[in-house]
Amino acid sequence: MKTIDGKLLAANLRAEIAGGVSRLKAEKGVVPGLAVILVGDNPASVSYVTAKEKACREAGMLSREVRLGAETTEPELLDLVKALNEDPAIHGVLVQLPLPKHISEKAVIDAIAPEKDVDGFTPVNVGRMIIGDDCFLPCTPHGIIKLIEFAGMDIRGKHAVVIGRSNIVGKPVAALLSRRETNATVTLCHTGTRDLAHFTRDADIVVVAAGRPGTLTGDMLKPGAVVIDVGVNRIPDDSRPKGFRLVGDADFESCAAVAGAITPVPGGVGPMTITMLLWNTLQAARRAAG
Ligand code: NAP
Repeated sequence: MKTIDGKLLAANLRAEIAGGVSRLKAEKGVVPGLAVILVGDNPASVSYVTAKEKACREAGMLSREVRLGAETTEPELLDLVKALNEDPAIHGVLVQLPLPKHISEKAVIDAIAPEKDVDGFTPVNVGRMIIGDDCFLPCTPHGIIKLIEFAGMDIRGKHAVVIGRSNIVGKPVAALLSRRETNATVTLCHTGTRDLAHFTRDADIVVVAAGRPGTLTGDMLKPGAVVIDVGVNRIPDDSRPKGFRLVGDADFESCAAVAGAITPVPGGVGPMTITMLLWNTLQAARRAAG
């Protein structure tokens, strides 16, 4: 069994991205700029936003963080997004989700200009991805494809089972895996699936994005399968300085005993999500630079 080192792949790609940033600066005088908006102080969101800002600066990009109070209104947030859409120093606009309940996530995402939608969440980019047009691919699903390839698997012709059908992970991963370039046969599972193990036992690739620890166990796998564990779950643990530890959706020990390769949590999908965000921001700046 091989552990798929998401940190290593992310570091390799980030070095490539930093090279691209330097060239863009030297050749066109353009510094890629990413604006990250955080509303409220959800601890997981604060830590994601901090990590994104740090990664952005390390890649030589401009990082503009906008931290707003939880009482921010929807019109105020929409005005801010519109101002960033028009700001020439900013090439990517990201609104950290989830938003407080009084703000419509759909309205806010819809307000982001498609050419600055580096998360790939706007209906325009999702539509372009589905029909195979040039677009910003959503970061976590794109990172997952890179991880499967990095594990040494030729995806073409394989059976991939995706557990979870969210708009940000499950559905786009299924769409990317079934594109002609990747050419997998995809089964998309969710809570309405009868006998999940029946499908996973036939899979060469299992992507689990359910948000529930223990969703996938070793007895549900075909020997040699590649497992991509997207889940990030906080488990109370007094022995850790922060009082919790992170686990994925797959039971690592039992899955690792059967799988050919598996991503750890942390250190698997997480670093790749941020890396693909940097990738998209560089593409956005290149397009703006002409
Ligand atoms: P979500 O919106 O809660 O969706 C979870 C999906 O899993 C739903 O479609 C649900 O089915 C399905 N599901 C839940 N339990 C299941 C079960 N026992 N059997 C089959 N299907 C089941 O979650 P999400 O936003 O996709 O995120 C999933 C996980 O990935 C979370 O832990 C999240 O924190 C993590 N995540 C990590 C990253 C990263 O960069 N590492 C990025 C995004 C998300 P129904 O539709 O039927 O309810």
